[in-house]
Amino acid sequence: MSTVPDRVVVVGSSVGGVRTAQGLRAAGFGGSVVVVGAESEQPYDKPPLSKQLLSGEWSVADISLAPPGELADADIELRLGVAAGGVDVRDRQLSLVDGTTLDYDALVVATGVRPRTLAAPRSVPLHTVRDLADVGSLRRALDSGGGLVVVGGGFIGAEVASTAAGLGVPTSIVEALPTPFSRVLGDEVGAHLAGIHAEHGVEVISGTGVVALRRGPSGLSEVELGDGRVLSVAAVTVGIGCVPNTEWLAGSGIPVDDGVVTDEFSRVSGVPDVYAIGDVARWYDVRTGTSRRVEHWTHAFQQAQLVAHNIVHPDDLQAHERAPYFWSDQHGIKIQMVGRRGPGDSTEIVWCDGPDGQRPVALYAAGERFTGGVTFGAPKISVRLRRAWEDGARAADVRALIADLGATQPART
Ligand code: ADP
Repeated sequence: MSTVPDRVVVVGSSVGGVRTAQGLRAAGFGGSVVVVGAESEQPYDKPPLSKQLLSGEWSVADISLAPPGELADADIELRLGVAAGGVDVRDRQLSLVDGTTLDYDALVVATGVRPRTLAAPRSVPLHTVRDLADVGSLRRALDSGGGLVVVGGGFIGAEVASTAAGLGVPTSIVEALPTPFSRVLGDEVGAHLAGIHAEHGVEVISGTGVVALRRGPSGLSEVELGDGRVLSVAAVTVGIGCVPNTEWLAGSGIPVDDGVVTDEFSRVSGVPDVYAIGDVARWYDVRTGTSRRVEHWTHAFQQAQLVAHNIVHPDDLQAHERAPYFWSDQHGIKIQMVGRRGPGDSTEIVWCDGPDGQRPVALYAAGERFTGGVTFGAPKISVRLRRAWEDGARAADVRALIADLGATQPART
């Protein structure tokens, strides 16, 4: 029999950390739970930052991860506004940068990621969207009326571009690859999404990168592209991927390799009683036999529940085997992706009837194995795709399922 710890310390006060703490209580854990967070704000949810918060549709109160008092009522202690600075895994002690320490029996690392950015002179402010303060400063820049360039055609950039266009801000996306959004979606589906942006007035520039950033004579920022064009705008946002927040673990003996390395149960490899979850974790996926990091909200949420279970029930460990899933809202369309598109996977687009005309469902497959799917404004189909993925459905079965759900055109490859 393994023993259940008395003191759990969670590092990170975003969705992974907070839901771990709540999950422990839900699983009947009666010991102490402390959540340490570098940000001083009460825990809030990040997906709305680039969408409803940037647009002004929602306020900070709307994105709270727990109503005031809920965590205290559950006897969850928050230590906010102080980052973890190191950990002694032998003595089971976490050090905070304010000089204090916390003893633990189980430690959960949920420190997430931070955006990569570009080198730029100080006179060219580059915006990223990762926390509340970022949203406030980007919104002020957008409101100044001088247009926006989004560097990077990934999902963060796409959401910022969509929100800015919705606010009436002239917006361009610059993507180095020939097709925006193709890293995750592949060329065909990426091109479809790029078309949606273009239809909504976003200028989509691809196949060229940023070669220089400087402040122009008018006070606007100048973004010089590889093809010679120069875009002069009030705001430049960078969405070119993220890096895991693991520096504080240097020298601790906790294995880091583009993320904290864990097994399928979210236990850190080779270090007892330390767990890592969410964006910061390089977790072992039993389905594929590979280790990777996943930067999706749903993944962090599910791993939080899983790690809470695994801490409270060490003799009944559960592995994370749910379908990969994320959603995005762009130009009023809910885009949902289930599974993953592997590099050699085939793509099929099936057109289905929707309330406003035809909408595509993209299906990815490796041979006859269904590997993933993307829907545009079709949440019910997405739910079915998730179930199909978790059931290990064959591509032919998923094609038949979509036909049943209202495909109006034969699939094309
Ligand atoms: P995020 O999570 O920030 O959306 P992704 O990795 O999904 O990040 O997408 C980032 C996109 O930015 C990729 O499509 C990548 O090709 C693109 N990209 C990376 N560096 C540059 C750059 N210097 N200029 C333009 N695009 C870039």
